[in-house]
Amino acid sequence: MTETRPAGATWSGNHRYRATEVLLPADLDELAEVVASARTLRVQATRHTFNDVADSDAALLSLERMPTRVQMTGDRVRVEGLVTFAQLAPVIEAEGRALHNLGSLPHISVAGATATGTHGSGIHNGNLSSAVRAVEIMDAEGRTHRIDRTHAWFPAAALSIGALGVVTAVELQTEPTYRVTQQAYTGVAWDDIVADPKRVFGGARSVSVFTTWGDPAHDLVWAKSDDGAPDWVGELGGRPVGDDIHLGRIRTVDNTTPRGTAGPWHTRLPHFRADALPSDGDEIQSEYFVPFSSAREALAAVRAIAPAFDAHLLVTELRTVAADELWLSPAYQRDVLAIHFTWRNDTAGVLGVLPRIEAALAPFDARPHWGKAFTMPGETVRATLPRADDFLATAREADPRGVFRNDFLRRTLDL
Ligand SMILES: Cc1cc2nc3c(=O)[nH]c(=O)nc-3n(C[C@H](O)[C@H](O)[C@H](O)COP(=O)(O)OP(=O)(O)OC[C@H]3O[C@@H](n4cnc5c(N)ncnc54)[C@H](O)[C@@H]3O)c2cc1C
Repeated sequence: MTETRPAGATWSGNHRYRATEVLLPADLDELAEVVASARTLRVQATRHTFNDVADSDAALLSLERMPTRVQMTGDRVRVEGLVTFAQLAPVIEAEGRALHNLGSLPHISVAGATATGTHGSGIHNGNLSSAVRAVEIMDAEGRTHRIDRTHAWFPAAALSIGALGVVTAVELQTEPTYRVTQQAYTGVAWDDIVADPKRVFGGARSVSVFTTWGDPAHDLVWAKSDDGAPDWVGELGGRPVGDDIHLGRIRTVDNTTPRGTAGPWHTRLPHFRADALPSDGDEIQSEYFVPFSSAREALAAVRAIAPAFDAHLLVTELRTVAADELWLSPAYQRDVLAIHFTWRNDTAGVLGVLPRIEAALAPFDARPHWGKAFTMPGETVRATLPRADDFLATAREADPRGVFRNDFLRRTLDL
């Protein structure tokens, strides 16, 4: 008999799962039985999403009781089961290897992050899904498919928002390990950032700009580089902040990774430490991706309406993501600027202001983050994704009974 637990809510508590229980198979055989007897099912991983993408009308499934395994083979790492980047990174580092990038927090699962196109920053860095070299997916009949880059399903499977089946293992590309120094700077003027976005965002391995869209005291440039402070920061008047770092109006201040000294990639690329509560905790997040070539105009459009959303905002973070070839990727075939909002945890208020932001970004063909709050109608979302129909055809082929579909997929993709 498969164990169960209550479904609960997302990490920040902003969405209570409609599903009442989570099924907890103990191994692949039990997982195969669970999926084959399910009418409808979605996987819940580390719950760091801000919408109903992982929800289901019936039951959820978690791999948390299943064995986990991390295996290095040549330049790849195979990750089996529910493994977080906090667990994975030190194992890779011990082998003298690294991932190309990480998100702002290491607490999230590898399968969940790659399923939604989770990203860090860097104009040469693709999102985390772009490091996927193969996935193993169990379909609704309990059969496992290994889908590598030669498989026709690959551009759908590496970033699938869970629509093809249960991802039981992910293989990621690694590279030789590297060290990173990071520093956060105040004093860089907004006008200088927008005057030449490439100079700022291209000026280090990974650059984030934090802003509250009006109060320069809150603006911060956070650069992560291979060889100390980038020259352009000083040229633009940047001064390192001390220990007293504030990300906009976020309350927690002692949860960030070390600045000012070099360290292994996985101890510097995330903003937030694995042993601390990331971000604010009591929040909702949204994020939109526009072509990097439209960065200046898109930022001006959002800034013009900032007074309308200011009361709800904790902080905005601006990052960049390099283009990839994954059909549902927010960076599909275009380098993007990611415009992120951390909101106060007030669902009605946030849902009230998102349409204004989405209207302001519509001329730039903005795509939403799959794991964050947005209100764009499905047809608008689909219109921004040139390969949406190919994704839908693959999902229907992989899951003809529609077991892994949910309201989110019906609403946003018409699956
Ligand atoms: C504090 C905080 C900071 C964040 N920072 C970033 C950031 O820097 N960059 C960024 O892009 N995002 C960021 N996010 C968003 C987050 O990384 C993504 O939403 C990510 O998808 C969360 O993964 P999860 O496993 O926790 O989520 P879950 O909600 O558990 O899962 C996400 C999706 O993946 C599916 N899924 C999970 N596991 C499987 C599986 N084994 N098989 C099939 N489907 C599966 C789920 O069904 C769901 O649709 C942040 C979130 C928080 C809370």
